[in-house]
Amino acid sequence: MSVRLRFAPSPTGFLHVGNVRTALVNFLFARQQGGIFMLRFDDTDPERSTDAFADAIEEDLRWLGLKWNTSSHQSHRQDAYDDAIARLKESGRLYPCWDTPQELELRRKVLLSRGKPPVYERGALALTQAQKDGYAAQGRAPHWRFRLNQRPVTWQDGVRGEVTFDTATLSDPVLVREDGSLLYTLPSCVDDLDHHVTHVFRGEDHVTNTAVQVELFEALGGAPPQFAHFALLTGAGGEGLSKRAGSLAIRDLRGQGLEPMAINSLLARIGTSDPIEPFTDLAPLVYGFDVTKFGRSAARFDPHELEVLNARIVHQLHYANVAARIPGVSEELWEAVRPNLTRVSDALDWLKVAEGPMQPVIEDAEFLRQAAELLPPLPWGEEAWGEWTGAVKQATGRKGRALFHPLRLALTGREQGPEMKLLLPLIGPKRTRERLIST
Ligand code: GLU
Repeated sequence: MSVRLRFAPSPTGFLHVGNVRTALVNFLFARQQGGIFMLRFDDTDPERSTDAFADAIEEDLRWLGLKWNTSSHQSHRQDAYDDAIARLKESGRLYPCWDTPQELELRRKVLLSRGKPPVYERGALALTQAQKDGYAAQGRAPHWRFRLNQRPVTWQDGVRGEVTFDTATLSDPVLVREDGSLLYTLPSCVDDLDHHVTHVFRGEDHVTNTAVQVELFEALGGAPPQFAHFALLTGAGGEGLSKRAGSLAIRDLRGQGLEPMAINSLLARIGTSDPIEPFTDLAPLVYGFDVTKFGRSAARFDPHELEVLNARIVHQLHYANVAARIPGVSEELWEAVRPNLTRVSDALDWLKVAEGPMQPVIEDAEFLRQAAELLPPLPWGEEAWGEWTGAVKQATGRKGRALFHPLRLALTGREQGPEMKLLLPLIGPKRTRERLIST
């Protein structure tokens, strides 16, 4: 059977680097195995989920090149959840509770003060039919909890090895709220079963959920998928990444001119034993993917590392793949400036340098005037710079920095930049002359 994986964001915010790492890990494995990668919107919370966020998530995934084979929305699958709820009630695994938040909070405090874990004590299971009828007569709707088996649950985790988690340490989770709305757990398991999900790769913040979900899969008559929980990403300073951490939203990184493959290259390998390399397409990440290479300790996401990777990727990009993003930049100019760029759009700055308008920086007007007299005959190719500076050297006795620096400053207005032998022909004789004798 071919593998089926899903990326299951809640459309309650923009994708950030943490989500994309999860998406990538699932995508890469699905592709490597020739399986299916699903996009599943966990949108059962009508207050916080929006179509605009769902659209934005799709747009970001497309921009990253993480194509999904199929997609679904939990908000369209209520019938399947109702059916599962009915079955769980039937088997006695879902039971009604009328505890108020205040009552629950009080019990929690009492248990803690006695040094006990604040686990729900299942008072609702002891209610008589008359008491239940009484609540109904008052018009009070129950919320519904899943009765855990209170036993150790064990699974083979792709990253963590054998994991055992005792559900006796957990409160029976609420699956359905008073108003009938669903929390994350039930729809997630029903979907994973109905969609025949074979592997769930996600952050280790879900380990506790997994123990509950293994029980729920079984209560629904299905087998759990295989799990792998990787250590979370933290910010460069070790702080947690949150969905609302604006600067790490994918669309902000895109707005900053970063390449999608810089983001993919970093996020596919961060926290693994594989080296982080600047890849220009996803193929090597697909071939090389191995979930067992994820380490157990949190990986730090450093925006500076992303910048460095971005530059190394830009240095490999072919003109045909970037031309549309840098109108006016010729292939010659791209080739000349590419090794000096950190972002593709920086090429536009060099277009201004080549074609103007730009402000020459004049260090020594007399020297520059003299150099202007010695410009080599046309046409100018790559050899023109060498010929010219050779002649200027001979005529003025200058050499090294004293020779080259004033020329570069006058012609480009900058201290550093691409090789002058490539830039000079692009600046051309007219502008070169004007810049040299601009005072
Ligand atoms: N919507 C859940 C989340 O974003 C999905 C978790 C899962 O992979 O099951 O955390």
